[in-house]
Amino acid sequence: MADKPDLFPHDDSLERLPAADREGRLLNKLQLLIKYAYANTGGFKTRLDQAGLKPGDISTLSDLEKIPVLKKDDLLKLQKEIPPFGGYLAVPLSEIDHVYQSPGPIYDPQRRIRNTFGSPGLGRGQIAINSWSYQVTPAGMIMDSVLKNMGFTVFPAGPGNTDLQMQVMLDLQVACFVGSPSFLASIIKKAEEAGHNFKKDFNLKYALVFGEMGGDRLRKTFSEKYGIQCLGGDVYVTADTGIIATSCEDNAGMHVSTDMIVEIVDPSTGRALPAGEVGEVVVTPFDDVYPLIRFGTGDLSMLVTDRCACGRTTPRLPKIMGRSGDAVRVRAMFVHPGQTNEVMSKYREVSNYQLIVTRSDDRDEMLLQVELEHKPANTEQWLETLRKDFQAVCKVRFDRIEYMPAGSIAKDAKKIADKRVY
Ligand SMILES: [Zn+2]
Repeated sequence: MADKPDLFPHDDSLERLPAADREGRLLNKLQLLIKYAYANTGGFKTRLDQAGLKPGDISTLSDLEKIPVLKKDDLLKLQKEIPPFGGYLAVPLSEIDHVYQSPGPIYDPQRRIRNTFGSPGLGRGQIAINSWSYQVTPAGMIMDSVLKNMGFTVFPAGPGNTDLQMQVMLDLQVACFVGSPSFLASIIKKAEEAGHNFKKDFNLKYALVFGEMGGDRLRKTFSEKYGIQCLGGDVYVTADTGIIATSCEDNAGMHVSTDMIVEIVDPSTGRALPAGEVGEVVVTPFDDVYPLIRFGTGDLSMLVTDRCACGRTTPRLPKIMGRSGDAVRVRAMFVHPGQTNEVMSKYREVSNYQLIVTRSDDRDEMLLQVELEHKPANTEQWLETLRKDFQAVCKVRFDRIEYMPAGSIAKDAKKIADKRVY
């Protein structure tokens, strides 16, 4: 695959183009991708034919939403019918170096990874250690490709064995660490326990660490205490599609990759939603090996399009808010337990809550039941603030609030109970 010419070479400049210019370039790539996938994969040809579409029908970016979303469950079924890749492999198997398995099980052929972090050539002449797993799942190989794209020579360590990794980092004067933030923290701790001055004896200049809660705090420590430059913050990556979004140095959410088109869609209709609305993340990677056009990740997020201080003009995903199966649609907006938890966790006096959705006179109604540990000083003012916070995060208002006796809401009850009867 490495020798095969790349139909969709990575272009760093796209990240900083005005939106209209970038969209023009993405449209060119999309039209090429649709024609290519239609001609080279039976799976996509069938999907387009069944939708009554021809490749030429996609003449604007918003035409993309005419193509039905390929859900993870659909892909699972297709892979059973047409093994191993459901009719979506666009090249002969002999051109694929690796195959991975992700939960499902779903099988993924190795795809091209074009991402880089930091300026081109940053890693030339330096060694990086990669502590993601190289087995079964693609994380290790994906990051291996990223490091090679950046010019690094890679030591494929895989996870675990802190002593060995510490010794390698010392002996080879490793310049970049890739893995989880907590694993890097434990290597540094080991080195210090062994009597080393980490900043002086080691040569660690860069870290690409993600995949855990609390990553920001550790990244701050790495940079302030040890002078390690953290390349990017969080990374949103799935086994099926590769790297979808990465946070920038200004940490204002994760910028979407320009090597794919990222949409937020209504999970029930597959239609694209405007910026600011919560829906399912659907991605179309520019991939000439395994073109999963409009792949539904099942993850919920939203697009933010205002200007980021870092200078990139690409839209951002503030964070992943949960799985689309748990979301409840209320008055045309999706509300997810991740959102209600975000609001309610700000209020320490709330010990438990449940949002109950009912329907009367063709209107969805939301009742917020709360158990309070103690009564707020000014209940009216408290309720007003809660209403505002709730609407800011969930984009819809609750209609009523009910104060419940302690222990009346089961601890394991669903945070959003849909009790509508149609
Ligand atoms: Zn930014």
